[in-house]
Amino acid sequence: MVLDNLGSSLRGSLDKLQGKSRLDEDDVDEIVREIQRSLLSADVDVSLVMDLSSSIEDRALHEEPPGGTSARDHVLKIVYEELVDLIGESTDIPLEPQTILLAGLQGSGKTTTAAKMAWWFSTKGLRPAVIQTDTFRPGAYDQAKQMCEEAEVEFYGDPDEEDPVKIAREGMEATEDADIHIVDTAGRHALEEALIDEIEEIERQVNPDRSMLVLDAAIGQGAKDQAREFDDSIGIDGVVITKLDGTAKGGGALTAVNETDSSIGFLGTGETVQDIERFEPNGFISRLLGMGDLKQLSERVERAMQETQEGEDDWDPEDIMKGSFTLKDMQKQMEAMNKMGPLDQVLDMIPGLGGGFKDELPDDAMDVTQDRMRSFDVIMDSMTEEELENPRIVGASRVRRIARGSGKGEELVQELLEQHKMMERTIKQFQGMGDGDMQRMMKKLQN
Ligand code: GDP
Repeated sequence: MVLDNLGSSLRGSLDKLQGKSRLDEDDVDEIVREIQRSLLSADVDVSLVMDLSSSIEDRALHEEPPGGTSARDHVLKIVYEELVDLIGESTDIPLEPQTILLAGLQGSGKTTTAAKMAWWFSTKGLRPAVIQTDTFRPGAYDQAKQMCEEAEVEFYGDPDEEDPVKIAREGMEATEDADIHIVDTAGRHALEEALIDEIEEIERQVNPDRSMLVLDAAIGQGAKDQAREFDDSIGIDGVVITKLDGTAKGGGALTAVNETDSSIGFLGTGETVQDIERFEPNGFISRLLGMGDLKQLSERVERAMQETQEGEDDWDPEDIMKGSFTLKDMQKQMEAMNKMGPLDQVLDMIPGLGGGFKDELPDDAMDVTQDRMRSFDVIMDSMTEEELENPRIVGASRVRRIARGSGKGEELVQELLEQHKMMERTIKQFQGMGDGDMQRMMKKLQN
């Protein structure tokens, strides 16, 4: 997706800032260039990229970082805020009776989105109906009808009628008991006058409360013209980005939102009627940036740091991704995690990890209860420095010695060693994660 690359390339530049408390012009220059490169390669409109990067540059150079903030966090915060600002709030979609008109080119996912949105409203206790006015694409009627059946929502269409405006009128009348009217329109392969004329007529006929532009996440630079045309003709209040489950870059969608001065209302994440979600700007950007949930993470880390007060031993969740994993690391991490909350939730927030991979972990990897931790602490106190650094050398006789010394059973010592191995394996697995895994995780995250 669009910001996927941004996340990983930015992290590279940001890592170079580690330990710095001030940014110099070269730092800012490099970061801004990194941002430009990834946004342009994700098909975001050139002038938009320039606007965005110049405000990031300006802020990074001139804003005073809040006390105690590192240069790295300061930049990250600025990038994040500028993106939130660009994407804006989610389109306001009140849970009340309304008519929604869908516009977009053929294949963008309008018909699918109509049924999905109807399903979404039905889960909110409203009574939706889909009116299919697409007389241009053969098969649109059957497809819409079938999807509405799957969504268990009312459907109106007329396969024998050629006049879409008439279908719209009759459809609104036939479904007048419904709370929500979702009017699907015909697309074309490209923007044409006929398409614009037709949608304007339908718009006059149904008088929608909001018109939404449906865009395939794969749309590139073409998004700008399309968005402007539709906005000029019927006025676009919100954008639906479809096919985000694919590998599309999605940059065009950002351009469209900016061009129409609108916002994103929904995301389409699959082919079934339930694969739709309301757009949440903050979480969306955090995740796309590959930063986990930034706000939550920083708050929790801060709290845990204060409580642990370990000074130089401060635990950074990102460290889990680097280097070898000793028993001491395990001890430190277990302590910090215990203060931060359950391990699985903490892992969710580690930049670049995202969420869904938890399913692939053995349950026991998460099972570090307070009691067990206390016992493990006592056991580790009876271990030598060498054993803590390299638990592999602990054989049967050492296990016996450690058990005697700590007053804990040999079994518990074994358990500690097993736990360490399991965590080590798990971490190796994360370290070896490739892009394909990331994509999979993103998909799971969105469900
Ligand atoms: P329309 O011509 O704009 O009405 O587009 P359709 O609703 O017919 O969608 C075109 C194709 O995209 C169909 O094969 C849909 O199943 C597929 N599609 C629509 N939305 C999504 C989505 O969110 N994810 C995926 N994977 N496919 C989608």
